[in-house]
Amino acid sequence: MMTMQAGKSAKAVDEIELDAPIFDPNAFRLNDEQAAIIATARGLGRTVFASRAAAYDRDAKFPTENYRDLHRAGLLGIAIPKKHGGLGADYQTYAIAAAEIGRYCGATALTWNMHVCSTLWSGPLADDLDMDASIRADHEQRRAVHYRRIIEDGAIYSQPFSEGGAAAAGGVAFGTEAKPVKGGWIVNGKKIFASLSGHADYYGVLCTEIAEGEKASRRNTLYLALPAKTAGVSVVGDWDPLGMRGTVSRTLLFKDVFVPEDAALMPRGVYFQAAMRWPHMFLTLSPTYVGLAQAAYDFTVSYLRGEVTGTPPVKRRMYPTKQIAVAQMQIKLEQIKAIWFQAVTEARANPTKEQVLRAYAAQYSAMEGANEIATLAIRTCGGQAMLKSLPLERIYRDSRCGSLMLPWTAELCLDRIGREALYETGESDD
Ligand SMILES: Cc1cc2nc3c(=O)[nH]c(=O)nc-3n(C[C@H](O)[C@H](O)[C@H](O)COP(=O)(O)OP(=O)(O)OC[C@H]3O[C@@H](n4cnc5c(N)ncnc54)[C@H](O)[C@@H]3O)c2cc1C
Repeated sequence: MMTMQAGKSAKAVDEIELDAPIFDPNAFRLNDEQAAIIATARGLGRTVFASRAAAYDRDAKFPTENYRDLHRAGLLGIAIPKKHGGLGADYQTYAIAAAEIGRYCGATALTWNMHVCSTLWSGPLADDLDMDASIRADHEQRRAVHYRRIIEDGAIYSQPFSEGGAAAAGGVAFGTEAKPVKGGWIVNGKKIFASLSGHADYYGVLCTEIAEGEKASRRNTLYLALPAKTAGVSVVGDWDPLGMRGTVSRTLLFKDVFVPEDAALMPRGVYFQAAMRWPHMFLTLSPTYVGLAQAAYDFTVSYLRGEVTGTPPVKRRMYPTKQIAVAQMQIKLEQIKAIWFQAVTEARANPTKEQVLRAYAAQYSAMEGANEIATLAIRTCGGQAMLKSLPLERIYRDSRCGSLMLPWTAELCLDRIGREALYETGESDD
């Protein structure tokens, strides 16, 4: 059963029936702790976020209220280690919880991903990487400050790395520069498509540390949390896109912004090491779209059964062509779930070549597949189902955006799979 009305009363929210989990804990062998965290996300998505999603989308408004609820439920700290007050979820648990949120509000799930990555990358992922003891001790102290802000104050972090050129695709060093000065850095640059702009408390900026006269190098990438209210930070441009409208992904400008040393989310060199040794870090944009694929399928089944709230109880399920389309959607959905579940389950440092190729394939399958399922849903449900009073057309528009997310766009996944399947590292035909 889908919910469409905005502004549900608390009583009505209590009465909303929960959908079955996308990944049944028994069938997918999730433990009780994982299942409980994922159930919290699913419950919040189903009972609260689903009814707010249409308004955020219509007004291209950031889901501020959802963030307050995420904070209250402990989900802003989902990937923060338990010793720092978080839920201590691993990569797989986070990914499945994010899919459940994406099922009900794509923009909330996608922006929550940017926030969670600041803790996932600085937390469990950084723990897998090489640092000498004193650097690790410094990192521990610094991340404790970020984690405290999130757990205690509900601080929201974003993750602007796109600049419009080859940097976000992983090809060259970021053009946003951090010049080392006493006690920190001076940051100058520009980030486009910066989700949560104007709404995050800290912008987790990827930039290149570059001293006077040095050449920019990807090895010198820094990951710095700039307070949104610091002098020299501004948000410009409008935001009126096709889909994912609640992400508010405007342009950020940094003009001579002083950033103190303790703003670093990762020590020097560790982001580059992560990008080389923990490639699944870039698969975290996909859970939202797995959720959208499930949502398009769920809607279709409910609609053809004549069970969508707010629509006449007209059944359409008896037509063979519609049954075939549902079968195709179910097959596609299970294919996405299977490859994606395997990829998020095996995510770790130093994956094998096969695991990396599978991660690209999982990303491609989720990003393109979600929109394929939504396209079939629109065709199969028919004209009355694509009205803006129902969620399907939003799911369709949101799902179209997945393939565009750098660095693993659908095109770049194809490029990489083809090249890396045919060539070993260092091989050429010359
Ligand atoms: C809803 C939404 C939210 C987003 N939120 C964020 C966010 O929070 N943070 C963030 O950093 N980004 C975010 N993005 C940006 C996203 O990750 C991409 O960076 C953006 O969509 C790229 O737009 P573009 O027009 O510059 O793309 P493109 O022009 O397609 O790509 C940019 C550059 O990448 C390289 N490139 C692209 N395709 C190829 C190819 N096939 N082969 C070789 N090189 C290639 C080229 O140098 C190209 O100039 C968001 C995007 C959307 C749609």
